[in-house]
Amino acid sequence: MAVSGPASSAPVLSSPALPGQLALPTDPPDPAALDTALAGSSALHGHLCPRQILGARSALLAGALLDLDLPRTDKRLLVLAETDGCYADGLSAASGCWLGRRTLRLMDYGRVAATFVDTRSGRAVRVWPQTDLRERVRAGKPEDQKRYQAYLDAYRVWPDAELLTAREVTLQFDLDGLLSRHGQRAVCSSCGEEIINERWVRRGERVLCPACLSGAYYV
Ligand SMILES: [Zn+2]
Ligand SMILES: [Zn+2]
Repeated sequence: MAVSGPASSAPVLSSPALPGQLALPTDPPDPAALDTALAGSSALHGHLCPRQILGARSALLAGALLDLDLPRTDKRLLVLAETDGCYADGLSAASGCWLGRRTLRLMDYGRVAATFVDTRSGRAVRVWPQTDLRERVRAGKPEDQKRYQAYLDAYRVWPDAELLTAREVTLQFDLDGLLSRHGQRAVCSSCGEEIINERWVRRGERVLCPACLSGAYYV
């Protein structure tokens, strides 16, 4: 296993420290919580792949850092996923946060990363795989082992401190506005379609949906 620095009782960070970077556990993760998450994720996804494991590990780490039990059955935790695909399935299975429950949102940056927001305290933690992770897995794998299998194995058992980076972050948007109130509706003055979740904008007497206000993604 690739570990940098001497063994000690203090957490070892295996990548350069950034401002606000959190010290992460150097012990292997709890296999029971991870196995449960991965069983759910792979059943949905059709197979188990490395990015699902990274998603599940990211969520489980965030739960520990925010001191929130996972998976959630309430709406206290909000996950802002920076990519869709395999990683997002791992995030959802481990956190209990889903697009359909309004507890997961896609910020489509094309980055394998997510921010976890405790909507009660406002604390937010962004988690992402260490940038040199794949290189370190390849460097440490037995010669006869396939890369894909090496990623699967490492991502399951490496301690958080060797796998992920986590940072406290401050949200730059109105969280209450994003969460919005469920059950509110209006009718768009321009297209006549119903608008839910307070996504309308008032312009004088008129109420407009975002598509009529600033252009839709289709013609
Ligand atoms: Zn996949
Ligand atoms: Zn409209």
